[in-house]
Amino acid sequence: MIRIANVKAPLDLAPDGLVALAAHRLNLPVQSVLSARVAKKSVDARDKRDVHFVLTLDVALRADEQRVLRRLPSGVQASLLAPAKAVPSRRLASAPQPRPVVVGAGPAGLFAALALARAGACPLLLERGEDVQTRTQRVQAFFAGGAFSPQSNVQFGEGGAGTFSDGKLTTGIKDPRCRTVLDVFVSHGAPEEILYQQKPHIGTDRLAAVVRGIREEIVRLGGEVRFRARLCALHVRGGRVAAVAYETPEGMREEAARAVVLAIGHSARDTFEMLLDLGVPLQPKPFSLGARIEHPQRVIDRAQYGAFAGHPALGAADYKLAVHLPSGRDVYTFCMCPGGEVVAATSEAGGVVTNGMSAFARDGENANSALLVGISPADFPGDHPLAGMQLQREWERRAFRAGGGDYRAPAQRVEDFLLGRESAALGAVRPTYRPGVTPGDLRACLPGFVTEAMREAIPLLDRRLHGFAMPDAVLIGPETRSSSPVRILRGEDGQSVGLPGREPAGESAGYAGGITSAAVDGLRAAERVLHALAPETF
Ligand SMILES: Cc1cc2nc3c(=O)[nH]c(=O)nc-3n(C[C@H](O)[C@H](O)[C@H](O)COP(=O)(O)OP(=O)(O)OC[C@H]3O[C@@H](n4cnc5c(N)ncnc54)[C@H](O)[C@@H]3O)c2cc1C
Repeated sequence: MIRIANVKAPLDLAPDGLVALAAHRLNLPVQSVLSARVAKKSVDARDKRDVHFVLTLDVALRADEQRVLRRLPSGVQASLLAPAKAVPSRRLASAPQPRPVVVGAGPAGLFAALALARAGACPLLLERGEDVQTRTQRVQAFFAGGAFSPQSNVQFGEGGAGTFSDGKLTTGIKDPRCRTVLDVFVSHGAPEEILYQQKPHIGTDRLAAVVRGIREEIVRLGGEVRFRARLCALHVRGGRVAAVAYETPEGMREEAARAVVLAIGHSARDTFEMLLDLGVPLQPKPFSLGARIEHPQRVIDRAQYGAFAGHPALGAADYKLAVHLPSGRDVYTFCMCPGGEVVAATSEAGGVVTNGMSAFARDGENANSALLVGISPADFPGDHPLAGMQLQREWERRAFRAGGGDYRAPAQRVEDFLLGRESAALGAVRPTYRPGVTPGDLRACLPGFVTEAMREAIPLLDRRLHGFAMPDAVLIGPETRSSSPVRILRGEDGQSVGLPGREPAGESAGYAGGITSAAVDGLRAAERVLHALAPETF
């Protein structure tokens, strides 16, 4: 098998055209190529008159591969593809007593529990929220104007924070475990294309089934998953973790534990407070504040793909923009959701928080993205380890009041925002946020230095993406939870500083950001637990 990189392909290339494309690239007769499949796929839209795909192809030949490689046409990048090495599966001789405990069923916790279960460690997974089906019904009812649940919402519940998301799996980390994460998703029903797309995504409509499938595998392998089980204390004996205490609808429960993977995400404010009371070292860390911005998707498609906008092979276009302002502030777009909707992402009663999600098809009318301003602990009100969290909460509550006190979010037309005037009404862009928005002034729900930086940045970003500053685009805010405002300090061994047995993982550790990196961090935490249990095997 050989791999050919940088193969230009037209947008309307049929799947059975791959063999001919590979043969053409290698300057061989079509009959010499046994098969060709896509290993990587991206869109090249730099020249709007020539938007095309760029493929990496894995090709099996009838001809002698070494000979073909020696005689490659000039400009062709190809190499021999080493067969994948089978990784021997390693298992514990017997299930450990006490069993490892994983707290939080987001990507970090689910993948930690899965790796532990696959190794025969029969973990207990505790999740404060509900199973993904019940949670989905509750969240949809809240979006429709129903009651808010502080334990089962867009942040909390099986699947974690990314369940109501675009399911983007792009990550900046280079770690071989990323492939494991994708393989697990596909084996549980995610679309196979995530294995080769340059910017893979699953979509919220498919994520729920994938998450349920991972949980079912954990249980099938001897693990236990308890929902509506909120960790509220860690008991320490002899300087290390000895037990966990958790609250359930039936009352308090306790479980002996020598290894606890804490995968609680960035919104478990009560749990951060509990850890601080316990003396666990927490450190404030930079995060970002801003708002969601919504445009018609067709404006983004046109800006990115020119005359090719709307081509069925391209789907909805995305964007990623950033600007460094003379003031020193960084303003950037984040978690862009093509054809998606803006979601109500609070985890606390009396707060308004925005975020975004899309279905796999990304076929909604609007595009949305966070427009964020980076802030540092110097911007926090004081040097308390949880000062960033207090800042988030303060502005989320102000937004709740500004929205009308019923979970509607404050919204403003971009033109009004730039002119510094309140929006009395919205224009042609219909906001997707449910339960609804209240036209007004974003200055009521974000600090002045944040709105100032956004105001300065929007016209600059419009130069890079024509239409970004369109007058009727809508800003909905505040977006406060794009990453953790606090870091649980980890030592060299990955464990919490000063408390052996506790493994902070994922967003809660402040070292991961996004579904894939959190899942990878969960796998790493599981590996550390397994190594401690059986160093000769793991
Ligand atoms: C609406 C939305 C859209 C997003 N879109 C994307 C995207 O497209 N792509 C991407 O890469 N990232 C996205 N993210 C970010 C991504 O979801 C997070 O980075 C990721 O989920 C972090 O994983 P985690 O496992 O560390 O934490 P989380 O996913 O936050 O999971 C933590 C879990 O712990 C549980 N928990 C907390 N405290 C306790 C306790 N005391 N006891 C028991 N359980 C507890 C919570 O209920 C939660 O289920 C999005 C986030 C949101 C909110």
